[in-house]
Amino acid sequence: MERDNSKVNELFRDELGNLDKKGKRLWIFPKKPKGQFYNYRTWFSWFLMTLMFAGPYLKFEGKPLLLLNVLERKFIIFGMVFWPQDLNIFAILMLSFILFIVLFTVLFGRVWCGWACPQTIFMEMLFRKIEYFIDGDSTQQKKLADQDWNAKKIAKRSIKHLLFWVLSFVIANTFLGYIIGIDQLKLLIYDGPFAHVGKLSSLLIFTSVFYFVFAHLRELVCIFICPYGRLQGLMLDKNSMVVAYDFVRGEPRGKLKKDAPKDKGDCIDCKLCVNVCPTGIDIRNGTQLECINCTACIDACDEVMLKIEKPKGLIRFASFNNITEGKKLGLNLRNGSYTLVLLGLFSVFLYMLITRKQIETTLLRTPGMLFQKQVDGRISNLYSIEFVNKTFNELPIEIKLVEPKGEIKLIDGIQILVHKESISKTSFFLIRDAKAITKITTPVVIEIISNGKLIETMQSSFNGPVLPVE
Ligand code: SF4
Ligand code: SF4
Repeated sequence: MERDNSKVNELFRDELGNLDKKGKRLWIFPKKPKGQFYNYRTWFSWFLMTLMFAGPYLKFEGKPLLLLNVLERKFIIFGMVFWPQDLNIFAILMLSFILFIVLFTVLFGRVWCGWACPQTIFMEMLFRKIEYFIDGDSTQQKKLADQDWNAKKIAKRSIKHLLFWVLSFVIANTFLGYIIGIDQLKLLIYDGPFAHVGKLSSLLIFTSVFYFVFAHLRELVCIFICPYGRLQGLMLDKNSMVVAYDFVRGEPRGKLKKDAPKDKGDCIDCKLCVNVCPTGIDIRNGTQLECINCTACIDACDEVMLKIEKPKGLIRFASFNNITEGKKLGLNLRNGSYTLVLLGLFSVFLYMLITRKQIETTLLRTPGMLFQKQVDGRISNLYSIEFVNKTFNELPIEIKLVEPKGEIKLIDGIQILVHKESISKTSFFLIRDAKAITKITTPVVIEIISNGKLIETMQSSFNGPVLPVE
């Protein structure tokens, strides 16, 4: 059964719920949500916020559990150090993550936005709650916005925005904690802000951005700025589970009256679902780009249904086919192929993670040089070697020549010691007996050994004169 769109006001497709006819922004005052889904969402948000705020303090073997230091290009995930050299693992991880989001959206719509996105969680569970506490519910908020400035309004606005600023500052600190690490952040506090002007500036910039987002931009982030929101139209199909209005049951809508027509649907057109919507849309118009699947309208409508003694779920998690044909969510070709690709990518990622080397070595024959004749008549080639130590321990390194026959001589003549979480570079000569050189280019195999353990086998080449050098 197709929806009869002739009965639906299609204006919503050309207009945004938060803009007037001249394109001026209409401030949204959503009614305070309450109900079963809101309770679940509150618990889940507190769980996520606890994780988010505690994240920078959590350590594993003295190292942060999660550090995303883009400035120094150093990343620690679950206690493992990652370097730009691990880009391949990151690429697979990012691909898997994007695919996971796509697959998840195909199946469950924009649940991420309403339930797990930090923007929604901070907005709905912190900033909006402060607003309800200071300004009251939507009706009082509208009244306050419309009234002239007086001492009460100035006081309310000042307290609210001061709290918004403090909260933005706390979020910015947490955000910075993930970037520079909690120890660096503590230094900023103990040494006084002016000892680290650069970091203080970043902190104030982050604070201002968060304040602007949560105090002013709000739903505009979800509607215009977030690329995921803009792309969801490409990912959803008629089998995707989204927050949906059951128009088969609800239409024709109409007020609850004694003389209502017999074929009247269950929707009593009370508009409570619209009033609670944080993006200002009417879900009864169908799935829309602005819907973040926050489920506030489900709670609002369920409450109405209970009051008028009708079954709950006029607005519920459902797919279009679920509403029109009663079809259940099932595995189709698209979902099945996404799942297979996702599993494949995830297996590759796990394999790369497990087999990831603790020391990454780059060996290069020094460019622009062919060979050198040593004072004893032997022939040498010069090599540059770089070690990336991805562990939290200092590692002694030994370079062992496997083939051809010859001798390795370090330029600075001392043992190589690679400091923890750092990069070390050195050069060495590979010296061979001139008579042993039978080819212009001879393959070279060397082993990198640390604490008696083979770390890596490297290959290169040795250039030399075929004829004996006088
Ligand atoms: S809350 Fe339910 S009954 Fe009220 S307008 Fe929305 S869909 Fe109709
Ligand atoms: S339509 Fe419902 S689920 Fe979608 S954003 Fe509005 S209140 Fe949330």
